[in-house]
Amino acid sequence: MTTANQIRVTLPDASVRELAEGTTGADLAAQIGPGLARAAVAIKVNGQIQDLGRALPDGASIAILTDRDPDALGVLRHSAAHILATAVRQLYPDAGIGFGPAIDEGFYYDFAVPQPFTPEDLEEIEEKMNAVVASDFPFLREVVDRKEANRRFADDPLKLERISELGADETITVYTDGPFVDLCRGPHIPSTGRLKFFKLLSGAGAYWRGDSSRQMLQRIYGTAFFKKDDLAQHLTRMEEAKKRDHRVVGKQLDLFLFHPFAPGSVFWTERGTAMINELNGYLRELQRDGYQELKTPLLYNKALWEISGHWGKYKENMFLVLDNETGEHDFSLKPMNCPSHYLMYQAKKHSYKELPLRYVTYDVLHRNEVSGALSGLTRVRQFQQDDCHIFLMERQIQAEVHRLTQFILAFYKTFGLKATLKFATRPEQRVGTDQMWDEAERSLRHALEATGLPYELKPGDGAFYGPKIDFDVEDAIGRKWQLGTIQLDYSNPERFDLKYVGEDNADHRPVIIHRAVCGSFERFMGILIEHFAGVFPLWLSPEQVRVLPISDAQADAARVITLRLRDAGLRAHLDERNDTLNYRIRDAELAKVPYMAIVGQREAEGGTVAVRVRGEGNKQDIVNVEEFSARLTNEVKSRALS
Ligand SMILES: [Zn+2]
Ligand SMILES: [Zn+2]
Repeated sequence: MTTANQIRVTLPDASVRELAEGTTGADLAAQIGPGLARAAVAIKVNGQIQDLGRALPDGASIAILTDRDPDALGVLRHSAAHILATAVRQLYPDAGIGFGPAIDEGFYYDFAVPQPFTPEDLEEIEEKMNAVVASDFPFLREVVDRKEANRRFADDPLKLERISELGADETITVYTDGPFVDLCRGPHIPSTGRLKFFKLLSGAGAYWRGDSSRQMLQRIYGTAFFKKDDLAQHLTRMEEAKKRDHRVVGKQLDLFLFHPFAPGSVFWTERGTAMINELNGYLRELQRDGYQELKTPLLYNKALWEISGHWGKYKENMFLVLDNETGEHDFSLKPMNCPSHYLMYQAKKHSYKELPLRYVTYDVLHRNEVSGALSGLTRVRQFQQDDCHIFLMERQIQAEVHRLTQFILAFYKTFGLKATLKFATRPEQRVGTDQMWDEAERSLRHALEATGLPYELKPGDGAFYGPKIDFDVEDAIGRKWQLGTIQLDYSNPERFDLKYVGEDNADHRPVIIHRAVCGSFERFMGILIEHFAGVFPLWLSPEQVRVLPISDAQADAARVITLRLRDAGLRAHLDERNDTLNYRIRDAELAKVPYMAIVGQREAEGGTVAVRVRGEGNKQDIVNVEEFSARLTNEVKSRALS
C-alpha cells in the first residue's frame, strides 16, 4: 500500500520500489548505490528519456541510463551542443541560435553570425567550452508560459519563430546552463561537467530550417563520447575516412567524373566502367539459375504513377517530362523499377507452377534530389540498382527469404564486408490495412527467424507498403552502411490486380518481395572504393596488370605480351612511355595496379616477365608468360580478396 506521500515505480528487473513523493531520478540512483549515482546520465520513464533531476511520477516503469547505454550518448551529444552554444554566446553575444541536435556521429549547432567560423575560431570556441565544462553548471529545466518564453528570447528571431509554431497545449520548457538559456525539450546531462571527451570538427554554411530561400546560418559540427578511447578511435577513423574519400580516390584512379551540365549523374571512365561491368557480371553469374533478366522503359505516363501511388506521394522526387501532344508534364522518368515489373507480370497469365517468379533488372533510374544534397557517388540523381522482384505464394515466403538471405550474405563476403540484419516494421505513413500488416510482419519475421541468424529490431522503419529486412555492412574501417533489402509487399499485388492460377484452377493473389543486394551501383562503388581504399582485389581492379618494357628495345616484345594477356581476358595495359623504369613503376604503384610485368632483354628472349606484386615492394619473380597469365586468370575466377 502506498501512503498519500509515497509513490511506486517499477525497475527494469520488474521489482517495485516505494519512494517518497518528489523523489528524482538522481535521488533514486543515489539510493541504489554511489556507483550508479556517479554513472547515471539520464532516466527512461515509461520509455521516454528524461532529465535525472525531474521528480518521478507514481506508477512509472523506469530505467536509469548510464554512460554504457547507447541512448545516453545522444543525451551527452545534445548537451554538448548546448555547451557549444554557451561558449559561442560568450564569444559572440549577438549570435542568433538555431537548432542543436545530436546526430549519428556527434552533434551540431547552427548560429546566425555575420561571418563563417574559421578553424582558429573553432579552437577558441573549444577553449571556451572547456571553461564551461570546468564550471560544472547544472542544466536547469523550467516550464514557462508562451508570454514568458517570448520575453526570454525577445532578442532572437529564430527562437521566436519556433515558439510561434508550438501548439497551444504544448509544454514550453527552457534550459539554463550557467549564462546560457535555450528553448529546448531536453533531456540533458545533469551538469556541464559531465562532458569530458569532445572535439569541434568543422564549420559549414546551412540554411535556416534547411530551406534555401531562408537565411544562411553557420553550422559547427562536433563530436563527444563518454570514453577517451572512443573519441580517439573516432578521430582516427575520420582521418582514415578522409584519406579513403571516394571522390579523392576516384579521381586519383581515374574512375569517374562529374560535369556541371549533368549534376548528380556520373560519367564513368573506361576504368570505372570496367568495375561496374565486373559487379554486373558477378551478379548475373549468381543469378543465372532461377532469375529472369528484363529491360523495361525509363519513361512512363502518369497513369502508371497514379496506380502505384507515386504521383500523389513522390511526385516532387520525380523528373517530369513534357508530352508535346497534351502540352502537359504527363510523363516521368522512373524513380524505381517496381511498377515496370508489375506491368510485365500482368501482361501474361501465370500458373502457380511458375512461382516463385524472379525478375531482375539493372535499368537506369532517376530521382530528383535537391542539388544541395548531391554528394559524390553517395547521393546522385541517376543510378542503377540490382533490382529484383519476386512473385510468389504465401507458403513460399519462408524458403525464399532463406534463399535470398544466404545469397546476399555470400555476396558481401566476397568483398570482405561483414553484414548485420535488421527487421523493420510498419511505419506511421503506410498503405494497407492493419490486418495486412499483421500478416506481412508475422510471415517475414517467421521467415527471418527460420534462418537462425541474429537480427536487430527497427520498429517503424519499414517501407510504406510492407515490412523489410535490411542488411547493414561494416567496412574495413568500421563504418556501417545500409545496403541490401528484402521487402515483403501485400499491397501492390492488390493495387495492380496481380494474379496467378492456383492448383484449384481459380485466381489467387501472389505476394511480392522487393530485393536489392548492392542497392545503387553508384553508391556501392563509392562504398567499395573507400572500403578497399582503392586497393581492389584483382577481379575488380580497373587495371589488372601493367606491362613495362625496360627500354625501346623490348617494346615489341612487351606489346605481344600485353596482347596475350588481353586475349586471356585480363585488363592489361602497356606503358611504353619514354620515362625511366623507376618512374613508371612508381606510377603503376600510385595507380594501385595489382601486378606489373617488366620486360627486359633476357625476358624478351626467354618468353618470361619479371613480376612485381602490389604491396610486396621490390621483390621480382621471373615467370613464364603463359604461367603468369594462367595464375592471374585463376585469381580472377576465384574472386579472391588480395
Ligand atoms: Zn537541449
Ligand atoms: Zn521494388
